[in-house]
Amino acid sequence: MASGDKAVSWQAEPCPSWCVVTHQEGDPVADRLHEDGGRTVPVRVWDPTGAEVREFHVSIHRRDGTSRTWIYIGDGWEQRVEIDVVDIDDVVSAVHSEQAELGG
Ligand SMILES: [Zn+2]
Repeated sequence: MASGDKAVSWQAEPCPSWCVVTHQEGDPVADRLHEDGGRTVPVRVWDPTGAEVREFHVSIHRRDGTSRTWIYIGDGWEQRVEIDVVDIDDVVSAVHSEQAELGG
């Protein structure tokens, strides 16, 4: 839905500029989310038998009518985390600090 528009009657707020969802009147309450298209990145993740490459999805979502916006990072089934956008900079900074400990 285009930014600034309310597509359906249940919307408490217009879609944010990043929302790509086509909302429907019949959307179940659980699905009433504003979401961006996200992006996918192949990453090596730890596995008991070694490293395994998985497609991780990184996306933004916010439940309609709420104030918190979340960044989802995960493979869609087994591994995932959803972080409040206000905390993302701290997480990225911590990751860079950990990475710096590896040296050169
Ligand atoms: Zn929306």
